Amino acid sequence: MAPRVDPVQSDSVTPTRTRVVVVGGGIIGASTAFFLARKGVPVVLCEKGYIAGEQSSRNWGWCRKMGRDPREIPLSIEALRLWRELNTLTGAETGFRQSGILYLCKTADDVAKREAWLEQARPFQLDTRLISRDEVARVLPGLAGDWQGALYTPSDGRGEPQKATPAIAEAARHHGATILQQCAVRGIETQGGRVAAVVTERGRITCDSVVLAGGVWSRLFCGNLDLRLPQLKVMSSVMRTEALDGGPEASCSGFGFGLRKRLDGGYNVASWSGNVVDIVPDTLRFFGDFLPALRLQWRQMRLRIGGKFLEEWRVPRHWSLDAPSPFERVRTLDPEPYEPILRQARDSVTAAFPAFRDMKVAESWGGVIDVTPDAVPVISGVDTLPGFFIATGFTGHGFGIGPGAGRLMADLVTGDTPVVDPTAFRYSRFTDGSRPQPSPLA
Ligand SMILES: Cc1cc2nc3c(=O)[nH]c(=O)nc-3n(C[C@H](O)[C@H](O)[C@H](O)COP(=O)(O)OP(=O)(O)OC[C@H]3O[C@@H](n4cnc5c(N)ncnc54)[C@H](O)[C@@H]3O)c2cc1C
Repeated sequence: MAPRVDPVQSDSVTPTRTRVVVVGGGIIGASTAFFLARKGVPVVLCEKGYIAGEQSSRNWGWCRKMGRDPREIPLSIEALRLWRELNTLTGAETGFRQSGILYLCKTADDVAKREAWLEQARPFQLDTRLISRDEVARVLPGLAGDWQGALYTPSDGRGEPQKATPAIAEAARHHGATILQQCAVRGIETQGGRVAAVVTERGRITCDSVVLAGGVWSRLFCGNLDLRLPQLKVMSSVMRTEALDGGPEASCSGFGFGLRKRLDGGYNVASWSGNVVDIVPDTLRFFGDFLPALRLQWRQMRLRIGGKFLEEWRVPRHWSLDAPSPFERVRTLDPEPYEPILRQARDSVTAAFPAFRDMKVAESWGGVIDVTPDAVPVISGVDTLPGFFIATGFTGHGFGIGPGAGRLMADLVTGDTPVVDPTAFRYSRFTDGSRPQPSPLA
C-alpha cells in the first residue's frame, strides 16, 4: 500500500519555454527546483505520478552524516545544516528533529568496524563518538538486551518523508517554479549537439538545461540518449506502527531492525537486511560494474528470479518521442513489501525495546532503491551532452542528503561556485575507466 503523502498543487498550463526542466519530483528534483527558483531561474518540475510518490515518501526518514562514505560527508554536513532551517526556508513542517542516531553494537567486531569508520571520518570533525553501554542506556531508555555500546551522532536527525518533499515542492512553487504532476518527460531534443527541449506527454518545452532526477528510472531515460548509466534496483520494505508510548526519541539500528519516531507518535520500523534484488536483464549487463558491491553486500540481499526478468526484457530501450513512453505506463512504483523480513524486524525490535511488544502495524509498503556500483550518487553535468545534468543513484541514503544535493545541483546548472567539491559525484567516473569502488565501511 502506498503511504499517504501531503498533496501538492499542480500548475494547469504547460509552459512552452523555460530555462531549466527538472525530470522527477522526489526529494532530489524538488530540492533542485527549489534552489534554482530561489536563485530566480525559471524552472519547470515534471513528475510522471505525484510528488514524492516513489522512494522519497517510502524511506525510513533518517537524516545522517554518520556511517557515510567519506566522499559524501561534506555534502551531508551541508544537508544537515539545511535540514535545521528547512521549516523556515519552506514555511512548512518537514518533520525535522535533531534527535540523534545510533548504530548499536552487539559484538566486539561491530565495535571495531564502527571504530574504523570513526577513524576515517576524523578529518571532518563530526560530533560522532563511540559510547559505552551505560551511555547507550541513557540515550535510549527502555532498551533491553546486552549491547557492547553504540556509534552515536547527536547532531543527526529525522525528517518526515511524507511531508518534507511536498513542502519543498510547494516552496519551489512559491518562488516561481512550475510544478506539473501526471506529466512524464518522454525524452530530450538536441540542437547542435546540446539540449534544446524536452518532450513531455503534455507537449514540448524549449529549455537550456535538463536535470534528470528520476530515481530508479534514470538508467532507462539515459539509455534512450545512448548514455550508459550503471544503476540497479533493490526493493526494501517498511512498516508503520500506530502511536505508542515508551519508545526512543533517537533513531537507531540494531541486530535485525532500524527505527525512527514519527511526528504522529508512531514509528517506522524496518531492517537493513532482507532487501530483494530481482534478477533482470540489467543485472547481467552491469554485472562487472557491481561485482565489488555484491561481494560486500550479498549477505544483506535476497536474489530473486521470476517474472520481473521478462517484464523488464519487454520494456523498450529506445523509443520515439511522439508516442507514449515507458514512463507513462507505470505512474508510481508501488511494490508489495517482503513480509518475512518485516516479521523478522518486528521480532528484533520487540526483543530490543519491550515497549514495542503491543505495537500495532498500521500499514506497510515496499520502495525501490536506485543503486550505483560505488554506492555514491551522480550529481553532475554530462560532458558529451551540454545542458544535460544528472542527480541520481542515491543508493538508499538520498533522503537525508537530499536538500544538499539539490543545492549542489542548482549551483552546477547555473555555473555558480559549488557548495562542496563535486568531483566524487561526476558521471564520467563510469565512462573514463576509473572503476569506482564502494567504501567497505559505509
Ligand atoms: C525503504 C527505503 C528506506 C530508505 N531509508 C532512507 C533513510 O532513512 N535515509 C535516507 O537518507 N535515505 C533513505 N532511503 C533512500 C531515499 O529514499 C532515496 O535515496 C531518495 O528518496 C531518492 O530521491 P530521488 O528524488 O532521487 O528519487 P525518487 O524519490 O524515487 O523520485 C524520482 C521521481 O522521478 C519520477 N520520474 C522518473 N522518471 C520520470 C520521467 N521520465 N518523467 C517524469 N517523472 C519521472 C518518479 O515518478 C519519481 O517520483 C530509503 C529508501 C527506501 C526505498
